[in-house]
Amino acid sequence: MEKVLVVGAGFMGSGIAQASAQAGCQVHLMDIQSAITDRALKEIRWSVEKLATKDFLTEPSEKVLARISPEKDLSCASEVDWVIEAALEVEELKRSIFQELDRISRPETPLATNTSSIPITRLAENTRRPERVLGLHFFGPVPLMRLVEVIKGEKTSLEVFERGVAFVQSLGKTPVRVHRDIPGFVMNRIFSAALREAVDLVDQGIASPEDVDVGMRLGYGWNVGPFEIADNAGLDTCVRIEQTMRVLGVNHLAPSSNLIERMVAEGRLGRKAGKGFYRYSPEGKRLPRENKENR
Ligand code: NAD
Repeated sequence: MEKVLVVGAGFMGSGIAQASAQAGCQVHLMDIQSAITDRALKEIRWSVEKLATKDFLTEPSEKVLARISPEKDLSCASEVDWVIEAALEVEELKRSIFQELDRISRPETPLATNTSSIPITRLAENTRRPERVLGLHFFGPVPLMRLVEVIKGEKTSLEVFERGVAFVQSLGKTPVRVHRDIPGFVMNRIFSAALREAVDLVDQGIASPEDVDVGMRLGYGWNVGPFEIADNAGLDTCVRIEQTMRVLGVNHLAPSSNLIERMVAEGRLGRKAGKGFYRYSPEGKRLPRENKENR
């Protein structure tokens, strides 16, 4: 049984912890406040129990939940086989987490990051084991989404890269190999290009978010439209990704309009805040849009 430390218990970290526990891993889930890990454990329980009622689990939900333990600090990094960092998309924060993980964990332990946009090579610079640092870019909601990009930093060894691929497969997910470390990797660059155009069209009043989403679903076979994806991901996270890409010189993928920044300033962070491009009930169900809403 592999032991995994997940750093950050937000939307992605809690999902990665759940998927790892469902696959039989012993999981340590760390965040900066116990209130955050408590909330994450509650959400994981809700999700695991829901999957159990749909016969998606091969064992009782209590067995899965018993494999996840909350942590207040990174000290258990010394005992684990894998570390997956899923803290906020802020480069300085991630760099300092990697420095600490490098100090505490065994030298052979691979250190993975779930960053959406920051090159792996930049995070590996702060460690003494850049050959063991790689990207494992999960997609949310992690328990339902099967894709994981496995990203090779400039110095990631082929052995660690392929171990990452095998680890992703052991979680029942499908790996996509990214052989060169560029900002936004592959999937976020393609998605950012679509979102950029969608945001600009909506901000100019040319179409509503709902109509764009319906169009992409019915016209192009997307399962969910770009605004639904952005709301699920968190609009604050979308802004951080866009800012990182701009800082790293990838300006052509950013919208011309600052619509999402304005929405974040108004507290419209997406599904987690009950409002973003759409509105949601306290249970997270999407509510019908009102006629006067044009964005
Ligand atoms: P989130 O805001 O839901 O969660 C981030 C968590 O990091 C918070 O709980 C916060 O308390 C915690 N944190 C902050 N400082 C920390 C520290 N020093 N140590 C440990 N935890 C700390 O964000 P998220 O959506 O879960 O995103 C997390 C990472 O995953 C980001 O790098 C993001 O770009 C990436 N990502 C997000 C999505 C998505 O759809 N939201 C998809 C793929 C990748």
